[in-house]
Amino acid sequence: MVSVLPTEEGNVAVVVRVRPQNQQEREGSRHAVVQVIGDSMLVFDPEEPRLSGVFTGFRGHDAPKRKGKDLKFVFDQVFGESATQEEVFQHTTKEILDGVLNGYNCSVFAYGATGAGKTYTMLGSEKSPGIMYLTMVELYKRIEARKEEKSCEVLISYQEVYNEQIHDLLEPKGPLAIREDPEKGVVVQGLSFHQPKSAEQLLEMLASGNRNRTQHPTDANATSSRSHAVFQIFVKQQDRVVGITQDLQVAKMSLIDLAGSERASTTNTKGERLREGANINRSLLALINVINALADAKSRKSHIPYRDSKLTRLLKDSLGGNCRTIMIAAISPSALAYEDTYNTLKYANRAK
Ligand code: ADP
Ligand code: MG
Repeated sequence: MVSVLPTEEGNVAVVVRVRPQNQQEREGSRHAVVQVIGDSMLVFDPEEPRLSGVFTGFRGHDAPKRKGKDLKFVFDQVFGESATQEEVFQHTTKEILDGVLNGYNCSVFAYGATGAGKTYTMLGSEKSPGIMYLTMVELYKRIEARKEEKSCEVLISYQEVYNEQIHDLLEPKGPLAIREDPEKGVVVQGLSFHQPKSAEQLLEMLASGNRNRTQHPTDANATSSRSHAVFQIFVKQQDRVVGITQDLQVAKMSLIDLAGSERASTTNTKGERLREGANINRSLLALINVINALADAKSRKSHIPYRDSKLTRLLKDSLGGNCRTIMIAAISPSALAYEDTYNTLKYANRAK
């Protein structure tokens, strides 16, 4: 497999992960609508009669390449159903870990509709832990390997953005405020920091943090998650040189399990849920706009609208500039999810 490392500063690498079909999807008579070809291409098959009408409205660079009647998409990397957690980690987040150790803030997002595999990819299960866990294990390994030259401290935090409010998932309390510090960058006031003693302890922290996530059943999906979960790793380093005071270098890596990208209008929402839906779209839409603006900024200078939501304010110093960013777009290959899959592919294509 080739490297997905965003080589230019501020670049966003975009990869797609196709999850296996679940039992309900396999039992249906309809064929899968996504076919992975090689390491970086997939074909979205519009032969489905239901799809007529979906393929209108392509404009400019929004339009994916057409191959016959199929829609062919090329990304930095495409992971098929059989890709393991370790493979996804190896070819995405692992490649930007050096950036963090060299003092650059980095971020990795899982984007996609509810049920597409975002939480599986970022958090994973007890049996196959995901990127959050694998990143910490690899980070500890690298720090251990160079402990003679550098002293290093690692702290973690875990928070959620829900309804345009920030909550600490590890020490739940009232909503927390964001402030920008000229030296420290973005600071969430009152957020708790932790130092897991082992990988196992980290897993326990993530599990307990996840139990504190806000989840509301909706008509569309009983376990739909409407919150953005933000796991951050802070790395503080200092050279070990006897007799000389060394600068403290601080960098952070943000690993984010985004709320479902399906449109709020597809769920039957009223009252509280409706407001909630609107707010979730606010943070997600703001993030989409920021990433689009960064993609455009490659060719021309443009305004990056960080201030439009809590999530983008929180990540202001982790997106663009010197930062390395990877977006993992999660999709289902099932015909049952064709619309979500199509929207996710279209957006991921735009973010490149
Ligand atoms: P999301 O967080 O995007 O709503 P989940 O990560 O919870 O979706 O995935 C939905 C279901 O599919 C879960 O039961 C999850 O375990 C399963 N799943 C997702 N991706 C994979 C995968 N790559 N391999 C096996 N099971 C997966
Ligand atoms: Mg989830």
